[in-house]
Amino acid sequence: MPLEVEKIRKDFPILSTVTNGKPLVYLDSAATSQKPRQVINAVSKHYRKNNANIHRGIYKLAEDATAQYIKSKETVARFVGAESYRNVVYFRSTTEAINAVARAWGDANVGKGDRVLITEMEHHSNIVPWQMLAKRKGAVLDYAKLADGKFINREDFAAKLAMRPKIVAFAHVSNVLGTINNAAEMTKLAHEAGATVLIDGAQAVPHMPINLSEIGADFYAFSGHKMLGPSGIGVLYGQEEILDAMEPFHGGGDMIRSVDFQESTWNELPWKFEAGTQNIEGAIGLMAAVKYLKKLGMENVREHEKTLTSYALDKLGEAGVTVYGPDKTEIDRRAGVIAFSMKDAHAHDIAQILDSEGVAIRSGHHCAMPLVTKILNEPAVPRMSFYIYNTHAEIDTAVAALGKVKEVLRISS
Ligand code: PMP
Repeated sequence: MPLEVEKIRKDFPILSTVTNGKPLVYLDSAATSQKPRQVINAVSKHYRKNNANIHRGIYKLAEDATAQYIKSKETVARFVGAESYRNVVYFRSTTEAINAVARAWGDANVGKGDRVLITEMEHHSNIVPWQMLAKRKGAVLDYAKLADGKFINREDFAAKLAMRPKIVAFAHVSNVLGTINNAAEMTKLAHEAGATVLIDGAQAVPHMPINLSEIGADFYAFSGHKMLGPSGIGVLYGQEEILDAMEPFHGGGDMIRSVDFQESTWNELPWKFEAGTQNIEGAIGLMAAVKYLKKLGMENVREHEKTLTSYALDKLGEAGVTVYGPDKTEIDRRAGVIAFSMKDAHAHDIAQILDSEGVAIRSGHHCAMPLVTKILNEPAVPRMSFYIYNTHAEIDTAVAALGKVKEVLRISS
């Protein structure tokens, strides 16, 4: 069923604002999504009526807050096909979730000379924690190469797996190329090679149906703020046996069963990984965000973004810009993220001129410096990205603004 975009837009207060004297055209949802009033109201209601610390108080307000917090995890677990709320650990973000695995799982399971395999299309949050682990342990960090600057090269991935890495970590969807990796197949191959698998789902969960029981990864991480929810709340899904066996990442209140002067024992899952007071309002907001997305239907969300992306690829082609990532014929393997470049125009100039027309896009290395500078061979690229509230007319506005870039910078073709 097509999304009722005009109706959806009315739920997002920021979309009726003006920037630089022009109606806001927000094309940067890959950086962070906007928030509907349902999420804003849920957070505000929590503060106005339900605020108390969780797990602690023996009074109704605290018990209700605890129940809502658990309900948030149950809602998230059902949304992504996780077994139970016990498999859902809340951290600050995808970044913190990956750091937790690299530290807590990595330190216990990766040793000198062991291999860690990632890919050339990773975000810094799925590179740097593994570099740090490799340095701490004297391990080797390998990268699966890309084919045609778009997809993971299958032969190279197989060859790197044959070196029997301890862990394989890869993005489900690239935040620069828009490439959708075949997460289930890559997980299966990595498991056959004896590796543990972590998937960075930051750009996947907000945009398409995700069923973790079909994908089969050991760990899967994503962020609330990219899926209509608040900042400061992210999810680490982990399989039960692996979470059970893993040491905590943070120590402190609530993650313990008992504490003595020298030794402590750990709480049960998922609390063992959540030390100190948590982002309770973030969890409440994330629950509201998931309910909002569920109501729209993730198949419909994906279809909408596919339509917008196809349209934008056509229009950008007509405008004569170079687009990175899978092309229109490969749309089934491409999400609504389009990085591009324009001859004789610097990425930052493009973003600035579009901003003067009310169009918000991101420009830079998109926290994927190895990919942008070494594979795309650009110091920076502009990127537009779409979500449930974007329209064809907004793409027209953005492409028309690219015409202005040519005018201002006096680019002839
Ligand atoms: N991975 C990918 C693919 C991303 O796009 C992002 C956000 N740009 C992250 C990880 C990190 O997410 P966060 O900043 O929420 O930790």
